Amino acid sequence: MRVLQAKLSQKFVQLARYTRYFQLVMLVALAALLIVPLFLTVPQYAWQTPWNNAQLFSEWALWAIWYPGTLLSVLLVGRLWCGFFCPLGATSEWVSHLGAHVRLPRWLKHPMTTACSFLIVTIWAQTLDVRDDLHAALVLFGIIFALAIGCGLLFGSEKGRGRRVWCRHLCPIGSVLGVFSRLGRLNVFAKQPSGGAEGYRDDGMCPTNIELRSKQSSRHCIKCMRCVKPQSRGGMAIEVREVGSEVAHIEQHAPCFSELWFIWLAPGLAIAGFVWPSSPWFVSWRQALGHWALAHHWLWALRPGPSWLMNESDVLGQHYMWLDFIAISSFMCSVAVLFALFLIGCSYFGAKSLEKIHSGTLIERMSLFGYQLAPLAMLGILLGLGTALFSSLKVVIGPSEIIILLILLVIAFSFNVFNANGWLKQYQLPVRPLLLAWVSVLAGCLLLAVATMWTIFPSFTMS
Ligand code: SF4
Ligand code: SF4
Repeated sequence: MRVLQAKLSQKFVQLARYTRYFQLVMLVALAALLIVPLFLTVPQYAWQTPWNNAQLFSEWALWAIWYPGTLLSVLLVGRLWCGFFCPLGATSEWVSHLGAHVRLPRWLKHPMTTACSFLIVTIWAQTLDVRDDLHAALVLFGIIFALAIGCGLLFGSEKGRGRRVWCRHLCPIGSVLGVFSRLGRLNVFAKQPSGGAEGYRDDGMCPTNIELRSKQSSRHCIKCMRCVKPQSRGGMAIEVREVGSEVAHIEQHAPCFSELWFIWLAPGLAIAGFVWPSSPWFVSWRQALGHWALAHHWLWALRPGPSWLMNESDVLGQHYMWLDFIAISSFMCSVAVLFALFLIGCSYFGAKSLEKIHSGTLIERMSLFGYQLAPLAMLGILLGLGTALFSSLKVVIGPSEIIILLILLVIAFSFNVFNANGWLKQYQLPVRPLLLAWVSVLAGCLLLAVATMWTIFPSFTMS
């Protein structure tokens, strides 16, 4: 294994010399995908597919390949997408060389900021309907690109080094990739660790401000490989580890309570984002809101809102009103909160089971437990936000696509339980707390599995 790791370190360091070119190619590809099809034929007929219509091809490439592909890749290589390919992070870093060097405000550094950014952008993507409307996707990407560049210009490094403030503190995709990269096989670690808590350093080599010798977790590491020194005795090296091992030994890898909010809230939000168009609950909720607005003469709710916030498409025959905006966002938030409350309950009882043998606070113990639901949470987000991938599968292989989804669910469930078992074994709990811990783990896993089933069979809520 050591030889393999040494070889991998060398290969990645060699490849890292070409990242500028990879990023440039991706920038051109993304611009081409978003802009060129807008000047070509508009899809209007059922016989048009991604293979004979450029707009449908772009939507497919973005939502069936890029988004789920990036999310799945973290299981193998962590956030390599961020370090090697992402044009957004790269542009933000390039312009940071010219930056105004403004001091980072405290709210921006708060670990909850990235989780909030994911929640806001996920809802915004739904109210814009980016998966079905390329114009809307261009608006979303355009605004996010402008924010990333603005962030780079505002917060350049004081030492004139490139900085990725956007990637570390604000990127909505980075927040998902960060949490789930803890499950990934590829890790960068310090050969001579300093010990102590994981640090934050603004003037070091790492573009995401990791204090290298104290690095313990994968979440902020974009695998840019700048710190990897295969030949030297110090510095950083690459390790290939078991999938999920960081989560199974989370206590040694800087657990963060704000990531827990993400694990609790994001699956419900992603699943609601997938099911709302076909959910009778959503229809009833929208009608109730509409009646209420009419009864209270809130006629503004029936007017269309700004096109950067909600969908307005003649081709789709869709013009969202404020009522739609409020109904979609409140439906998604309610589902997310309902799921989160249940998962918080599981984490609370899981934390209780460690009470006698762990000296940490209740919040610290809840954090340790909450991470144990990460694999199934990831599947929920993948199915909820990667719908297009599974719709494409359906086109290719027909109804047996459901069997693939169910197999995925069984694998994720089994892996989650297996990983949680590895985590629980370290504590050697007596029988009663062990039972309580297992009931909490299984209840959390079952809830996430049921939620995932909702995306596989969205019509099962039909009454
Ligand atoms: S954090 Fe976001 S912007 Fe930065 S490299 Fe990753 S995906 Fe791109
Ligand atoms: S820890 Fe190393 S590989 Fe990871 S982001 Fe920082 S410099 Fe890049």
